[in-house]
Amino acid sequence: MKLSLQQQIIFFTLGNCLLFVVLVASILWSTHIVDVTLKREQYAHKVEDYTNILKQLVLSEDIYASNYSTSDWFALETKLNNLLQVAPNLTPQQQTLQNSIVNQNKSVQRLFDTINKNKLKNANQAIKKHLRTRLITQLEAIRTDSIQLSDIAKKDIKNVIKNQIIFVLLTLVFIILALVYGAFKLTTVFKTSLNEVKNAFKKNHSGNFQAIQFSNPTEEFDSIASAYNEMNKKLSISTVSLESMKKIVDERTCKLEELSNTDSLTQIANRRALFERGNAEFSRIQRSKSQLTIMLIDCDLFKDINDKYGHIFGDKVLQHLTEICKKAIRSIDFFARYGGEEFIIILPDSSINGAMETAKRIQHSLATHCIKFDEKEICITVSIGISTVSDKHDNFEQLIKDADMAMYKAKTNGRNRIEIADEKNTIIKKA
Ligand code: GH3
Ligand code: MG
Ligand code: MG
Repeated sequence: MKLSLQQQIIFFTLGNCLLFVVLVASILWSTHIVDVTLKREQYAHKVEDYTNILKQLVLSEDIYASNYSTSDWFALETKLNNLLQVAPNLTPQQQTLQNSIVNQNKSVQRLFDTINKNKLKNANQAIKKHLRTRLITQLEAIRTDSIQLSDIAKKDIKNVIKNQIIFVLLTLVFIILALVYGAFKLTTVFKTSLNEVKNAFKKNHSGNFQAIQFSNPTEEFDSIASAYNEMNKKLSISTVSLESMKKIVDERTCKLEELSNTDSLTQIANRRALFERGNAEFSRIQRSKSQLTIMLIDCDLFKDINDKYGHIFGDKVLQHLTEICKKAIRSIDFFARYGGEEFIIILPDSSINGAMETAKRIQHSLATHCIKFDEKEICITVSIGISTVSDKHDNFEQLIKDADMAMYKAKTNGRNRIEIADEKNTIIKKA
């Protein structure tokens, strides 16, 4: 049977009340037992006292004298008789002694009556002495029995007190143990269950929507568990959809970023991406003091191609040029469409000579790879301007400006040429 916490607390409290009642009852019972034993001892003591006085009476006075007054004797004997009638509840051993006392007392009474009735006037002294001695002996026997009764009662008192103390102490120990055990059990249930709730919330916080399973199931915590598990279920559903939403958003953002950095016609980096990378490379070489060279490629007389073969063919030419350039550059180089039919290649850690070689490779590749139009081979040429970072450059744009000037020079010098900008913006090399 599964009990609720409230029921467990009520049962625990009632159980302890019951144990407390048992303790009080055991104390009362102990006092009662001790009281009864004390009464037995007092009773035996009184019997002894009365017998002693009766014996003294016989010893101190001449019971055969004609003027002997029996009133004291009878008064005492009546008291003793009454006392023997109202004897307290006795143990079997004590009861045997009590019976002996009662019988002997009867003998004493009979003997005394015999002596008292005719005072044995005519009896000889020996008989008188004998009867008197018998009376004293009987009284002495009663006294001895009463002393024995008293001794037994005294011994009983010790045992009873000892037993009752042990009984009360055992009851007390049992109550304390039950209290400690109950309190420990209840605290454990609370502590464990609260810890389990805390851990479930921690798991929930880290995205683990596991249901709570209490190791000590109780009605109250079970209702918490079902409310929590219900909430967890809903949360796990909404969180899963949030996660998938995040994935979609991330994918879209990535795609958008890619689109915003990519030229739609040639699928290479656009102007925006060019400046981002160019500025980063420019900053990098400021720190590392390494080389950075760029080349600006402009398609020669491209307007004429458009005019002659159409804009769509012009687009194809641009894509063809892109493929040629991509094959001619290194993996660390960065190739971008600067605008229209102009392209820029960033060549990190490259000298002018290195750039020159790349430029020549492009020119050579273009010369050897022409495009077909209506069964006709159309070969294009490009003019290339090269510039490398020097002390006079403050930013990437200035580097482009130099490359543009060099490219312009290539145009003015007859196109399909490579020109290099020197530090003072004068062209130092031609190809
Ligand atoms: P130059 O040798 O002096 O560079 O002569 P050019 O004809 O190449 O120079 P210009 O700047 O006059 O012409 C560039 C042309 O490129 C003009 C423009 O219509 C064309 N153009 C720009 N972008 C595109 C494009 O995306 N596709 C096509 N097909 N043509 C484009
Ligand atoms: Mg141009
Ligand atoms: Mg051009």
